[in-house]
Amino acid sequence: MDKSIEIKKKVAFHTLGCRLNFSESGSIAQGFVERGYEVVDFGEKADVVFLNTCTVTDGADSSCRNLIRKAQNSSPEGKIVVAGCYAQMEADKIKQMQGVDLILGTSEKYKVFDYLESESELQVKIDKSADFFGAATTTADSHTRAFLKIQDGCNYVCSFCIIPFARGRSKAISIDEAKSEAVKLAKSGFKEIVLTGVNIGEYESTSGEKLVDLVQAVTDIPEVHRLRLGSVEPNTMTKELLEVLKNSGKYQDHFHIPLQSASNEILTSMRRKYRIEDYRSILEMVKSYFPQAAFGADVIVGYPGETEEQFLETFNFLRNGPITHFHIFPYSKRKGTTAAKLTDQIQSAVKKDRVRTLMLLGEAKLDEFSKNMIGKNSQVLFEQQVDGYWEGYSSNYLRVKVKSDFNLKNEIYPVLMKDLVGGKLLGEIIVD
Ligand code: SF4
Repeated sequence: MDKSIEIKKKVAFHTLGCRLNFSESGSIAQGFVERGYEVVDFGEKADVVFLNTCTVTDGADSSCRNLIRKAQNSSPEGKIVVAGCYAQMEADKIKQMQGVDLILGTSEKYKVFDYLESESELQVKIDKSADFFGAATTTADSHTRAFLKIQDGCNYVCSFCIIPFARGRSKAISIDEAKSEAVKLAKSGFKEIVLTGVNIGEYESTSGEKLVDLVQAVTDIPEVHRLRLGSVEPNTMTKELLEVLKNSGKYQDHFHIPLQSASNEILTSMRRKYRIEDYRSILEMVKSYFPQAAFGADVIVGYPGETEEQFLETFNFLRNGPITHFHIFPYSKRKGTTAAKLTDQIQSAVKKDRVRTLMLLGEAKLDEFSKNMIGKNSQVLFEQQVDGYWEGYSSNYLRVKVKSDFNLKNEIYPVLMKDLVGGKLLGEIIVD
């Protein structure tokens, strides 16, 4: 066959859940591309449909079932792969769902290419292996920001969380691997790298190096321009880490530090490793190094037994504190976790109400924080053009847009913020 008219095989992805899952899907997609596949949108006809699932999202069961049905409709002859956390936990249930060809656990998903070659009907590959597969990087996210996965799994036992069961104990790539991945990403044009994992503060290489050593090594790479960290557990945030981040001159003014609740009773029941006083001091410590920093946090509302007063403690803490990027989740019962056995589950209408209350507060806080940026400068990495404006993220993770006749894609410029329009900062590039 003439090579030029050879029809490429197609693969479609659908990813549920966390940023880490998206990072992993990006890396697996890259693997398909390297093997000659074309990545098409989910819903288009494909030879392989890859569903990267999550157990944390509500109704994982029915989302998975719906996605399989959609995949079958769009690609009746395609192979359907169900992978990730939900596959790891509920392989038996998925086996009962019609049309699935391959079920892959959290480690096995990286070997999808090998399994696809097999002719057998339904394959299930689940292993609780401690190996770390895929120093995963992704080319997703507008080709300007890349996620570099440095760690997976978790050794904590938060009462509400299924992740330690689904992803196993903490494991990490080596600093050398991280460096070589970061160099690859920087050389292929990515201006910003986000270090991700399930619990990156607990990063530890087999030779005992910590996150601070990895950050030092990655920021020492001359080609790396900007660095961000994914979520960092409060108890793992250290002065040493902040010093290295600050001295690198490459770290962006944004920290995501999960809070979950501001009530000490709830934090204790959740088996979190800090109390609200600790959390407050950690924010203060971070601010002493990065005074302009934006803070993001995950918050769970409606945890079993959460009283109105305990919810108000969280509300007031958020209202009076510096967190502006809220990620609010209604508590969702996960079979097999300690919290699922608690009897005082909160009614879903109450949870919905509390979610709404915090969401409104979050919007107001973000708005206020954004307005405070008017008249100030920030370095913006531009990603894409939307309705005639170039848009990107400021160092402190605010959406910024500017008018420009030049192609700004993947360029970093200092921008003076002039106004806030529809939740985005309108700015002007500062020309020397
Ligand atoms: S730190 Fe807690 S919430 Fe986060 S992954 Fe580990 S067990 Fe789950």
